[in-house]
Amino acid sequence: MFSTKLYLPNDIEVLDKKARIKQKIRLYLCIILFIIAVAFVIIMRNRLFKSSNIGFGIFITVVILYLPFILTDIPARLKDFTYCGTIEDVTVKAAKASDKSNARRLVDVNHIYLHIKAPDGKLFTHKAFSVSPYSVSFSHIQRVYVPGEKVFHICGSEFVTILPTKDDKTLPCPVCADQNVITNHICRGCGHTLIKEMPTKPLSQYAHINPRF
Ligand SMILES: [Zn+2]
Repeated sequence: MFSTKLYLPNDIEVLDKKARIKQKIRLYLCIILFIIAVAFVIIMRNRLFKSSNIGFGIFITVVILYLPFILTDIPARLKDFTYCGTIEDVTVKAAKASDKSNARRLVDVNHIYLHIKAPDGKLFTHKAFSVSPYSVSFSHIQRVYVPGEKVFHICGSEFVTILPTKDDKTLPCPVCADQNVITNHICRGCGHTLIKEMPTKPLSQYAHINPRF
């Protein structure tokens, strides 16, 4: 899906690989559960499709066949992948239109979709986050995304972090979203490597571009 080669620090690459293995496990689990569900429906067909209550039988069948997808969150999970890019546009899909009363609530209860241009020019859309009004994870989100900003996301992470500009004094960790001072190389919260620029060049090249690395 994403053709630009990313040169991830080792610890971040491990997280990415683990997340992709989890995706595969979920997919296989979904397939196995679906086969079990189909077998169950076939075995129980005489009870499910009694002529006296055929509507209820069809309803139960649909629920049983749909259950594997709900339990494993497939195919939504398969859409996730590690990427970096520049925000082209931000779309906010309101959970409830009446909740758009102020900026804080706008972010709180809505689904934020980022339209991103990858370093190779490819355009794609990624759901940045979607939180319930009282979710504690909201405290990690510092501000709304703005077109032009460069972002980074690790597969399996709930965060899309904004990469720092040269004027920023802090940057968020791509793994736990904890804010770190710009001079840090690893996160003070979780110990993972901080991503300060789009990782599209071999790591050894960064030292020449920016002494911070
Ligand atoms: Zn961290």
